[in-house]
Amino acid sequence: MKTAARTLVFTGDGKGKTTAAMGMAFRAVGHGMAVFIIQFCKSDATTGELHTAATIPGVEFVQSGCGFIPPDAPDSAMESHRQAAQSGLRRAMQAVISGVYPVVILDEICYAVHRGLLDEQSVIDLIHAAREDQCIVMTGRGATKGLIDAADTVTEMKCIKHGMNEGIEAQRGIEF
Ligand code: ATP
Ligand code: MG
Repeated sequence: MKTAARTLVFTGDGKGKTTAAMGMAFRAVGHGMAVFIIQFCKSDATTGELHTAATIPGVEFVQSGCGFIPPDAPDSAMESHRQAAQSGLRRAMQAVISGVYPVVILDEICYAVHRGLLDEQSVIDLIHAAREDQCIVMTGRGATKGLIDAADTVTEMKCIKHGMNEGIEAQRGIEF
């Protein structure tokens, strides 16, 4: 079956998944490669990565989420998250098949699948829609087996310690 040149997953409960994906964008831009970044589950217009992306020609940065999803969110509250994720998936598919972006970053898509906002198979279909010279990067906690199997490179960020568990609040330039 046709698949992307590279498919990477950054998952696990430690810090660094989104920053690793942003690092990949930084690297690709240095080679003149256009990068499409979509953040599932997020709706924070104040992040440093969003502001930086707006200054770089060739980087398209989109958020398609409604923000933090409580672990015990009732199903009624999940509907808006689900719709935002589905809309993001359609937008991601347009970017993949447009032929414009050698690198497509699907931030938090693993978490969106983990929380039941997206079908795993629909994300696998997205990967299979990629051209043979495209790189797909997926991040998020709880990557499911199908996404892990579909990737050639999977890194688990293991939490040894996290400042937030010690009471250090999310910090500008470090966490957002
Ligand atoms: P980053 O964006 O800093 O690379 P991440 O993408 O690995 O983090 P997410 O799972 O997206 O982490 O977490 C979202 C938020 O939770 C971020 O502000 C992050 O710093 C924080 N966080 C990540 N890991 C932990 C942890 N083990 N305990 C508490 N907070 C965490
Ligand atoms: Mg993240």
